[in-house]
Amino acid sequence: MDFLPLFHNLKGRNVLLVGGGEVALRKGRLLADAGAALKVVAPEVDPQLTELALHSQGSVQLRGYQADDLQDICLVIAATDDEPLNAQISVQAQALGVPVNVVDAPKLCSVIFPAIVDRSPLIVAITSGGDAPVLARLIRAKIETWIPATYGQLAGLSKRFRARVKALFPNVQQRRVFWEDVFQGQIAESVFAGKLHEGERLLEEKIAGAAPRQLGEVYLVGAGPGDPDLLTFRALRLMQQADVVLYDRLVAPAIVELCRRDAERIYVGKRRAEHALPQDEINQRLVALAKEGKRVLRLKGGDPFIFGRGGEEIEELAAEGIPFQVVPGITAASGCAAYAGIPLTHRDHAQSVRFVTGHLKDGSCNLPWRDLVAPGQTLVFYMGLVGLPQICTQLIAHGRAAETPVALIEQGTTQQQRVYTGTLASLPELLAQQQVRAPTLVIVGEVVTLREKLAWFEGAQTRE
Ligand code: SAH
Repeated sequence: MDFLPLFHNLKGRNVLLVGGGEVALRKGRLLADAGAALKVVAPEVDPQLTELALHSQGSVQLRGYQADDLQDICLVIAATDDEPLNAQISVQAQALGVPVNVVDAPKLCSVIFPAIVDRSPLIVAITSGGDAPVLARLIRAKIETWIPATYGQLAGLSKRFRARVKALFPNVQQRRVFWEDVFQGQIAESVFAGKLHEGERLLEEKIAGAAPRQLGEVYLVGAGPGDPDLLTFRALRLMQQADVVLYDRLVAPAIVELCRRDAERIYVGKRRAEHALPQDEINQRLVALAKEGKRVLRLKGGDPFIFGRGGEEIEELAAEGIPFQVVPGITAASGCAAYAGIPLTHRDHAQSVRFVTGHLKDGSCNLPWRDLVAPGQTLVFYMGLVGLPQICTQLIAHGRAAETPVALIEQGTTQQQRVYTGTLASLPELLAQQQVRAPTLVIVGEVVTLREKLAWFEGAQTRE
């Protein structure tokens, strides 16, 4: 080990920063965040750094560095572009035993700055000892995605309850099990979902020795339109901790693969007009599994609240008093539009966008056509493939121009994405000669013409 990581308490202590440019400002910000009093010395100092230093109860001296600047200093940072000066500062500081960091010169440093993941009071520091800073930054980015932004609040919770828990369990082993349970279970999830009060209440209950909860929890999670990269951090985390997963046809296999390996997986089908499991059976199944104490993941394509019947599922859970949370996902309209290069709104072409289902509850396609032909709006039809000829005919019959551009996006955002474009008049006929595969999304409006300029995804190539 070339460096020993130690965490430096700088609150109210003097740190000397030699240099007044952008690099010095970056270091200054970190030091000020850690509560240091910044003493800045440089012939010229960036005004933002001056403000930072004065705000930190420090000082700014507009002149060159002098050896006695090292008096009463607990750390010195050399951030100048004068190499001999940086070397001189390093030697003098080390002679006095003052820790020194010279920016971008690891050999002159006695201490180095790590890449930081800040979930205060939890802090993760990563270093490559100066050998591969980019690698350290990449690891940092990975860790950032694993650890929820509110993770630090768990530490606050632990701080507030620590003494009571200690009194309750004199035995270290028991305490460890207790806290592991808190940090990995429903209490932690409440905190991550922004429900700190609920987390505290559950912790109170747990401490009060209330009967251990028999109930599990249901996570209603939007998995996005297909590309696994479009999952949210929260979706991925819950996918990796659920005991059982219920998913349907819309969820791409590559996404189901990301669920915890040993989780039970239940396919609940759902294809247009051919439901592998009727909706109320899915609802009952969720309730039953949660009552067995399981953490149940209901994984849905796109966003659970956009044509996803998510509302019906949680109604049942709420009625049964089962805890649940809903995680939004990228809906097919956003995903397909972005990957096909079609902005859904545009100042010149569409001032609003409307998500419409092409398949009504009664199996018909009787839509409010008069509203749908209003100018300046983009229409996005979900479940619109079967009804497409009727949709196009009705829009024309109600006054939308027959030349209005239309795009049909097949298996949007996946490697199999295909885009067909035409007009209200031509597209149905074009599609009749193609083997189109579900799921598909239909976008109607002037914005479709922009894709020639904006398409970037390989599957964005057009078939006309
Ligand atoms: N909750 C989902 C929509 C469910 S309805 C969401 O927010 O996206 C199912 C319809 O969504 C399909 O019939 C299709 O119109 C659309 N859809 C979902 N994923 C799609 C994809 N990858 N490509 C094209 N259309 C998609």
